[in-house]
Amino acid sequence: SLSSKAARKVAVLPGDGIGPEVMKEALKVLKRTAELFPKCAMTFEHGNIGGAGFDAHGEHFPAVTKALCERSDAILFGSVGGPVQEQHMPKWKDCEKNSLLGLRKAFDLAVNVRPAKVYPTLAHCSPLRSELLKDGVDMVIIRELLGGIYFGEHTTEGDSAKDVCTYTVAQIRRPLEFAFQAAKGRKGKLTVVDKANVLDTSRLWRKVATEMAKDHPEVTMDFMYVDNAAMQLIKAPASFDVICTENMFGDILSDAASVLPGSLGLMPSASLGSKLYLYEPSGGSAPDIAGKGVANPAAQILCGAMMLRYSFGEEAAAAAIEAAVDQAILSGVLTGDIAPPGTKSVSTSVFGDAVVAAM
Ligand code: ATP
Ligand code: MG
Repeated sequence: SLSSKAARKVAVLPGDGIGPEVMKEALKVLKRTAELFPKCAMTFEHGNIGGAGFDAHGEHFPAVTKALCERSDAILFGSVGGPVQEQHMPKWKDCEKNSLLGLRKAFDLAVNVRPAKVYPTLAHCSPLRSELLKDGVDMVIIRELLGGIYFGEHTTEGDSAKDVCTYTVAQIRRPLEFAFQAAKGRKGKLTVVDKANVLDTSRLWRKVATEMAKDHPEVTMDFMYVDNAAMQLIKAPASFDVICTENMFGDILSDAASVLPGSLGLMPSASLGSKLYLYEPSGGSAPDIAGKGVANPAAQILCGAMMLRYSFGEEAAAAAIEAAVDQAILSGVLTGDIAPPGTKSVSTSVFGDAVVAAM
């Protein structure tokens, strides 16, 4: 029965910079969620990673941290890395690469999921004119991470160079499977982005997606060429629900979409492994504001919501966290990155408290 289900084990890896500051707020919110939703019992075990891993164990991705993740049901990750001017220090040299590649390899994180939502009361943060936002921008971009042209053979001979793009059916199915499921819990619309007028790999994506769509009749699927998708992201961002695409197109489109909400501090993300999923803010360790207590914890808090939804299937609890973040923002509790110029902003912990109160 549900009541006897063991508590989910969450590996908490705050990391560096603003990571520990925003993680503290996310844990406050998750602990409150567990009180309100008794099915959402969770245990939190902390591990060191990044510069913090180096300080504690002499490695950016220590073996004890890997072992912690292996016995956990989900990974809640903060951020890693140090200031640009300190990159030569052993603590920071290759810190992001070692930490994230270590995790990616250990857990086969083959798919990246990035929501981009524009909060209606934060239209002043978005680079888009408000009339483009009036229908509500709320999309999720799902990107294949371990295939395609970035991982193909790269060769240069004389005055010509070549990069090879390869996909297998199995590689294509993984992000699409998640995309169909995600669409079902949302507006039921999936846009598969490709360049099928030119590329064989894109034609294979279309074939696989068309096959899979038969098993998901609740989802309305369409295809869009990537050049058109880039245009529509700016011209008609409200028309998207779930986008699924290959590695390079996803790299470009998700960076373009990430500017729509107006602050990295609002944007969570997930990386899907074969055994477990990892959740992290889309932004980095933000050394420019670290230690000041002013970072926006919304992205990290929303990572907690994504974890409840996608790892634990607790939709009501996830939606409650998202509604509480909406409510805090709506009531004008705004950190510096999202407060209109010339207005008062709140600290990281005041924002976290407002979310807890709104729950
Ligand atoms: P990194 O190498 O870790 O990516 P970076 O210097 O590029 O470091 P990011 O963390 O990517 O910094 O952040 C880019 C900008 O967005 C910075 O000015 C940072 O302060 C801001 N930013 C990122 N996350 C947040 C947040 N949670 N709250 C407020 N501002 C943020
Ligand atoms: Mg950055």
